[in-house]
Amino acid sequence: MIKLQVACLVTLLFIAAIYFSVKRKKTYSHRLFSISLGVVVINLIFDIITVYTVNHLGCVSELLNRFCHIIFLGSLIVEVYICFLYSSTLIFPNDEEAKRENKWSFIPMCFACLALLLLPLDYVQTDEGNYSWGLSVIGVYAMLAIYLVMILFEMLYHWKQIQVKKRTIVLLAFIIEIVVSTMQAIKPTLLISGAGLTLLNLAFFLTVESPDVHLIERLREEKERADGANEAKSKFLSNMSHEIRTPMNAIVGLTEVLMREDIGEKERKYLQNIRSSGDALLGLINDLLDYSKIESGKFVITEDNYEPLMVLEDLKPVFEDRIGDKPITLNYDVDQNLPWTLYGDGLRIRQILINLTNNAIKYTESGFVTIAIKIVEKKEDEVKIEVSVQDSGQGIRKEDLSRLFDAFTQVDIKKNKGKEGTGLGLAICKQLVDLMGGKLDVQSEYGKGSEFSFTLWQKVIGKETVGDRETKKEEISKALEFDFTAPEARILIVDDMELNREVAIALLEPLQMQIDEAENGYQAVQMVQQKDYDLVLMDHYMPVMDGIEATQKIRGLTDEKYRRLPILALTADVVAGEKENFFKAGMNEVISKPIQVNEMCEKLHKYLDEALIKSAV
Ligand code: ADP
Repeated sequence: MIKLQVACLVTLLFIAAIYFSVKRKKTYSHRLFSISLGVVVINLIFDIITVYTVNHLGCVSELLNRFCHIIFLGSLIVEVYICFLYSSTLIFPNDEEAKRENKWSFIPMCFACLALLLLPLDYVQTDEGNYSWGLSVIGVYAMLAIYLVMILFEMLYHWKQIQVKKRTIVLLAFIIEIVVSTMQAIKPTLLISGAGLTLLNLAFFLTVESPDVHLIERLREEKERADGANEAKSKFLSNMSHEIRTPMNAIVGLTEVLMREDIGEKERKYLQNIRSSGDALLGLINDLLDYSKIESGKFVITEDNYEPLMVLEDLKPVFEDRIGDKPITLNYDVDQNLPWTLYGDGLRIRQILINLTNNAIKYTESGFVTIAIKIVEKKEDEVKIEVSVQDSGQGIRKEDLSRLFDAFTQVDIKKNKGKEGTGLGLAICKQLVDLMGGKLDVQSEYGKGSEFSFTLWQKVIGKETVGDRETKKEEISKALEFDFTAPEARILIVDDMELNREVAIALLEPLQMQIDEAENGYQAVQMVQQKDYDLVLMDHYMPVMDGIEATQKIRGLTDEKYRRLPILALTADVVAGEKENFFKAGMNEVISKPIQVNEMCEKLHKYLDEALIKSAV
């Protein structure tokens, strides 16, 4: 008769042992589950006792029998009440909210307890065994039914609020408890109410309270918190960098303008120092911005036609400037069969090349730095190129090689004292190469030198190779800066920051154009209708109306000339998809801030009407 109760009791004690073996935070649900375990244990013990007392009416005193039944039935009603409270903690994760929702729910329990104490309790004797019955028992079952229906209703009503992996099992356990209680009420000799309660607690334990489930939940919470903090950090980093970059642009830009003036040697040297410090700071900020963009997945690879050799040529003066007085020879070794034009992200390749070569120069005191571009594999219309930067510098220890590409990691700190850096350069290079589907490698011998290289598949455009072009190259590389003026060109600069407009105007001064200013997109839309402009330089973020909206408005104006007007976007922050948005809005070109005079002049040259361009004297 009592085998089931004993089995349930053993199971419950087992659960309790595991449950209480782990220290945990004293939350509302923890308190409820602990009470629930205790109450079911009491219920099962008194279930076993009452089975004995009710079947030995002759030898057990009436008072004791009634007392045992009151404890047994009372614990049943208390347990269902606790389960009711517990189920609402699954719905409302906030304890206070759960408590508030159930403020009056103890009332049916009190009625049931009063009924149990005051109403008559009888014993029915049958061949299968005796059991208790009477108004008090009916009262208990009635309240039991009320609570179980309330639980069922609440759970179904708030179904979506309950965690997916918990709700089905818990609901199933409650349904089983309803079935068990109904069967028990119909046939009291079955004695299965304890089994239902045990099952319910087992369900709570397995889905919510088991130490493993708790651990997983805690880990998930911690992960969410860490992700949130990381995101906040990245956002802060990118906001701060952005804020720093705007005034830095002004410093670098205006220094450049000042250097064009007729000034003394000493002043020129100071200005040069300001500019190179400014450039270094801008480089650092750009690294931080790039890194936070890569981390947040906002970085996109934008592919277009580019000329690898021109990328290299373009960088020559930059590297030579870097080498300064150091006795380092800069060598170039370019495969003559390298296609003249490739399709890929030339800008990112340039960025990686700058990073690797700057490092090579930074960590080499004398000797050589060799930049090589080779073809390592060929397909019909694709080539696998290998770009490498080799130096005869200090080299890297074997044990440091594996951490080299980690963010914010610098190695050989002692030796590198006094060398500026963030430890981000190589991390960014690696991520960029990965994003382009390539592989960045390093080989190094400590004390002798290092070689960084990456391989990439790139589409081939046209048939011309570097060898074919060798002769023409020199003319092209004598690039553009200020070899033209456009005194009749009417330009509109749209930027909300006066300082930015000033810098741009000062930088463009040698081109002698007629420049007007607008403070926001709205003003720009008005101004282009009042005067015929030959070109508009449009900032992105502006109050009142931003650059994208203004461009759309201008393109939407009725006259055909507004479709032809070149609009070049100025932006400090090209994040994923943004460039496409500019083009979609109808902009012709995107110029990144800080404005590079060379780039700006090149694009102006391209978009200004030929009739407006005069060769410089
Ligand atoms: P940093 O901004 O410090 O240069 P990087 O990520 O570019 O950061 O480089 C990480 C570390 O790798 C550097 O601190 C330096 O110790 C080492 N390193 C990078 N390139 C070279 C090289 N060509 N020769 C020797 N050491 C290098």
